[in-house]
Amino acid sequence: MVKVAKFGGSSLASAEQFRKVGDIVRADESRRYVVPSAPGKRFHGDTKVTDLLYTCYAAAESGDDFSDTLKEIHARYQEIIDGLHLSVDLSHEFEIIEENMRGLSGRDYAASRGEYLNGIVLAAYLGYEFIDASQIIRFDDEGHFDPETTNCLVGERLAQTERAVIPGFYGAKADGSIVVFSRGGSDITGSIIARGVSASVYENWTDVSGVMVADPRIIRNPEVIHTITYLELRELSYMGASVMHADAIFPARKAGIPINIRNTNAPEDEGTMIVERTSRIPKYTITGIAGKKDFVAVNIEKDQMNSEIGFGRRVLSAFEKYNLSFEHMPSGVDTMTIVINQKDFQEKEQKVLTEITRLTHPDSLDLEPDIALIAVVGRCMKENRGTAARIFAALAHAKINVKMIDQGSSEINVIIGVKNADFENAIRAIYDIFVTTQL
Ligand code: ASP
Repeated sequence: MVKVAKFGGSSLASAEQFRKVGDIVRADESRRYVVPSAPGKRFHGDTKVTDLLYTCYAAAESGDDFSDTLKEIHARYQEIIDGLHLSVDLSHEFEIIEENMRGLSGRDYAASRGEYLNGIVLAAYLGYEFIDASQIIRFDDEGHFDPETTNCLVGERLAQTERAVIPGFYGAKADGSIVVFSRGGSDITGSIIARGVSASVYENWTDVSGVMVADPRIIRNPEVIHTITYLELRELSYMGASVMHADAIFPARKAGIPINIRNTNAPEDEGTMIVERTSRIPKYTITGIAGKKDFVAVNIEKDQMNSEIGFGRRVLSAFEKYNLSFEHMPSGVDTMTIVINQKDFQEKEQKVLTEITRLTHPDSLDLEPDIALIAVVGRCMKENRGTAARIFAALAHAKINVKMIDQGSSEINVIIGVKNADFENAIRAIYDIFVTTQL
């Protein structure tokens, strides 16, 4: 059995955290491949090493001195090395990094050094081989991730290595220049490595005990979801639930590998299993609730819209022309609403409205800003009667006016639009009816 274990920045922010990681890895000998992030925040208000590296590079680009910030970064690693009584010396690595930054070797190169150095330290601590991700994670000449070449490289390289640490977040083009994924991208590296070695599970160790049923900033101590499908998680992450980088699902899913979200600070907790399919019936009818604020509803009305062929296409082409992607499109016989991200829309709104008017000559066109969208997600909603009734009864009792309803064809989610001001109360009402009162 092979497990890939990825540890996030807060799990590797100090010597104390490294020790917990060491205990976890040593507790199960199938944890053969380990993917670290760069050291994250040690305390509230601290700065992540990745952010310090970006600061250094910005200074280098504008010709300013960055040596103090680089020394600060070196001190962060030295503190970990000393705390673990290791004999690793990163001085030479820092000389190279300083020289390369002065030579403006790239923002991605600079950012990637956080994981690179942490990988060296972690490999020494665990007694694992260090494999530079630039050798096995491949990006094409345009800087896009190349999954198939990478999969071969990872498979071949790791077949020769019993135990290794592979830094997260970056890879390289064929010419060796470093490219990073978007922020939080070490999650993607972990998933890629899991696929490359056909792992039995991809463990993603972080600082929470799994995916929560609802946002803990809104619900105090929400329940942790035991098992969730990739599809459910995708719906929840799209609507703002963040536990892992959204793109981290794809490599593991492609290879049919379950992902287990675990807590480095509470390793005894089982965490959340993310799977393709499951026969496990969830504890509650719904699996999770997530939501986002700040959308605009663009309401279009025209008599006999229903008989005008191509009306919808013309409306949508106005958004397409200005490169705006819409979220939802509820409609009536002679009405149509486009729900769209407020910030993106506001930059181009007059142009889009003029275009809609020119293309469709509506009877009325009005805007309703400050809408929040809430997704209630659950694979069991399909089989259960009355779920929608319960959601709307809960909202009615909480005196919340529902602005929009949309149920996806997969029937695993119901999207509800409310005013921004009602957002938190709406989530509490839905959580209460399904989880607190266990209906
Ligand atoms: N260190 C990178 C970041 O802060 C990548 C990661 O942690 O996944 O975004």
